[in-house]
Amino acid sequence: MDLTVISTFRCNSKCQMCYIWQNPTEPKEEVSLATLSKLPSGFDNLNVSGGEPTLRKDLGEMIDLLYPKARVTEISSNGLHPERLVPIIKKHPNIKVRFSLEGDQETSDRIRGEKDGYNTKIAGLRMLREAGGTDLGFAMVIQDENVDQLVNVYEFARKEGFELATSTLHNAWQFYKNDNYFYDRKAVARKVEGLISALLRSPKPKNWFRAYLNLGLIEKILGHDRLIPCSAGRDFAFIDPWSDVWACNVRSDLPMGNLARESWNEIMNSEAAQQTRKKVASCGQNCWMVTTARTAMRSNLVPQLPKGEPLLWVIKNKLKVSIGKSICFDSYIDYSDVRPSPHVERTSFLNKNVKARLVKGRITPDEHYPLRTFMNN
Ligand code: SF4
Repeated sequence: MDLTVISTFRCNSKCQMCYIWQNPTEPKEEVSLATLSKLPSGFDNLNVSGGEPTLRKDLGEMIDLLYPKARVTEISSNGLHPERLVPIIKKHPNIKVRFSLEGDQETSDRIRGEKDGYNTKIAGLRMLREAGGTDLGFAMVIQDENVDQLVNVYEFARKEGFELATSTLHNAWQFYKNDNYFYDRKAVARKVEGLISALLRSPKPKNWFRAYLNLGLIEKILGHDRLIPCSAGRDFAFIDPWSDVWACNVRSDLPMGNLARESWNEIMNSEAAQQTRKKVASCGQNCWMVTTARTAMRSNLVPQLPKGEPLLWVIKNKLKVSIGKSICFDSYIDYSDVRPSPHVERTSFLNKNVKARLVKGRITPDEHYPLRTFMNN
């Protein structure tokens, strides 16, 4: 099972597609090390994210605590404080670190509202490499504003010896935002094809399966059904800063329990968890973020291996690309079926004086997530 620990909602970026930074948590209410120590061992991918996890003063101790509990420990960061990760990398060089990068300097800084963020995170990832880091990379949220630069970012990362993880615009309780819509779904989707072809040309098998993951992103962007059904609450879960455990980070009606008050076993076997898994089985949303896609692509019998469908697609298209043929995307994707979506302009917060609002005394999940409805299709 994969687990994401959303360690804080404090954030020092000002992204246009995620408003966590406007809705910070107070450090004293954030999931504690004592609570996290209740987690069992045996997770596959355990991701510490935020908000911005480097704003937690106890991040080093948190990683020391979680590292033995998972096959892969990951930190998702905006990369604005890379120096805080150096001691962690020196201690655990194989920790996976991903810094958000949204394109070239002007585009990335504008989308993320970060003054000089681009230079800081590139220098920062190189700093972590010098410190001995072995699994370093960027993460990019594909959207209308940066999709033209997608292949360039991949090539840049590849030349530097870094990975590139991709996701795309979506709505989620985690983002305090439910109006992230593509301006032109088809134009964005078509441009992802270039990345898929580039990934298949790579000698790394990991990239070939990332190609399939990006095929799923095209379906998501167009508003189609997921390539493989979601297994939230069974193959992955999220812990929010208030220690509430959720099947996913999208729907705020999929609670499973609270790790501060219950044990992990009680949560996983609770009535709430069972009801939530039933709702997941009939969920009509088409999210295809890394967590939901990676877990869906895994074999049910041998989780280290892929399911048959992605495996066959990869073999067929890798062979095609290897002999110089191009992939016929129209044989996989129905581009005549593009779901309509409203046009809601996203605005950059770079150099804008918008302050976060700290709401004190929020106790219940309904108070934590007042927007309630988060739709993806
Ligand atoms: S498909 Fe449904 S259950 Fe799965 S991550 Fe999306 S909203 Fe959650």
